[in-house]
Amino acid sequence: MCGVFGIWGHPEAAKLSYLGLHALQHRGQESAGIVTSDGHRLYAHRAMGLVNDCFRPADLATLPGASAIGHVRYSTAGGSHIRNAQPFSVDDARGSIAVAHNGNLTNADDVHERLEARGSIFQSGSDTEVIVHLVAMSTQRAVEDRIADALSQVRGAYSLVFLTENALVAVRDPMGIRPLVLGTMKTEHGDDVHVVASEPTAFDLIDARLVREILPGEMIVIDRHGVRSSRPFATAPTRLCVFEYVYFARPDAKIGGVGVYEARKRFGRRLAEEAPAVCDLVIPVPDSGVPAAIGYAERSGVPFEMGLIRSHYVGRTFIEPQQSIRHFGVRLKLNAVSETIRGKRVVVVDDSIVRGTTSRKIVKMIRDAGASEVHLRISSPPTSWPCYYGIDTPTRKELVASSHTVAETCKFITADSLSYLSRDGMLDAVATSPGCSSSAEEFCHACFSGQYPIPLGPPPRGRQLPIAGVAS
Ligand code: AMP
Repeated sequence: MCGVFGIWGHPEAAKLSYLGLHALQHRGQESAGIVTSDGHRLYAHRAMGLVNDCFRPADLATLPGASAIGHVRYSTAGGSHIRNAQPFSVDDARGSIAVAHNGNLTNADDVHERLEARGSIFQSGSDTEVIVHLVAMSTQRAVEDRIADALSQVRGAYSLVFLTENALVAVRDPMGIRPLVLGTMKTEHGDDVHVVASEPTAFDLIDARLVREILPGEMIVIDRHGVRSSRPFATAPTRLCVFEYVYFARPDAKIGGVGVYEARKRFGRRLAEEAPAVCDLVIPVPDSGVPAAIGYAERSGVPFEMGLIRSHYVGRTFIEPQQSIRHFGVRLKLNAVSETIRGKRVVVVDDSIVRGTTSRKIVKMIRDAGASEVHLRISSPPTSWPCYYGIDTPTRKELVASSHTVAETCKFITADSLSYLSRDGMLDAVATSPGCSSSAEEFCHACFSGQYPIPLGPPPRGRQLPIAGVAS
């Protein structure tokens, strides 16, 4: 999973991109990068790690110009390596172009092979690099035509921002699987500035205003002539990723007209209706389970308590004592408040179960803290299928729900009961939210249903195809 950002027309483009990426940090923590243009050439800085660690003031000083694109990466195709850090850029006789991508192409390997056979030299293991090669090879003249030409040869999920010396282009795939929004702000001299980002939270931080969502299949070109919109692809049904609401997006973001925090509360209310439990307390698994737990408590009339406390200082590396400590990893992040939990029948609300290992440890932790019963409620359906459109999920084999019934999973995680939100309940909860621009049929729910809206090519390297039931 990744986050993208773009800005056009601001003398401090690099610094504002840095702040925008900061607000998108939850979408990727492996690497970050910014490419700027001063109207003559592109300048790039990419590094591994969190945004804060990737850009020192001296790095930002090497990025002049009034337009920029940026990227935070969470690897879904290609390993965690600096050569896969984005934005990618290429130079050719016609100039330079850089791209930042959120999503995953499903036919990248095919295109890669074809391009290599024709002499292209790839620097990374990322699916995104094929896009810049295709743009560079296009015989079209205008940049938007070259991009449209390139994208007509790829399949998959993409929210993209491109930067050339004198244009910024934002494109969303025809099904609109990943979000992408357009915003505006002014310079201190009153000049118009245009911004694009994966989520509008990036705008809030820099005092930009959300203008609108970039539509599925829409291309926005921003250059000295202003902002132009076109729809260069054949129309396709909308399939916005519902997992953005479940887990991925920040709760303060608005996606598809719906506030993510509100959507999660609605999931929790539905879950309380579908799967009530006789209990004394509702507690969330922080942070991602909090809004759904609030909704569950509200609808069930049971008190809400923060029975688990999360440390916000868990780094990427830590020193584990030689003598093994049970549940060390999860305890580094979460600890139970035993005074609150002791002797209580507790409903624990989390957003999803992937492998089941975290839930198992959390149930044990709450039981050890003295709970008399632990009932786990999950505010989405069982995650049984890998995502091929840009969310990092393990192979089918590793997903506990792909090979275990709910009763078996409950036994594995040692809970007294386990229930998930139904697929219809989840889709209906978002689609009936005030302001929602999609109907219940217009979401991608492949990770829950195996109904993949975009045909899968050979999987990206190192990934495994789903075992069966691929709907195209
Ligand atoms: P697991 O132990 O694998 O079952 O992990 C479950 C937890 O991972 C849940 O609490 C989710 O909040 C979180 N989660 C779900 N999807 C993802 C994802 N794609 N990347 C990272 N964490 C996730």
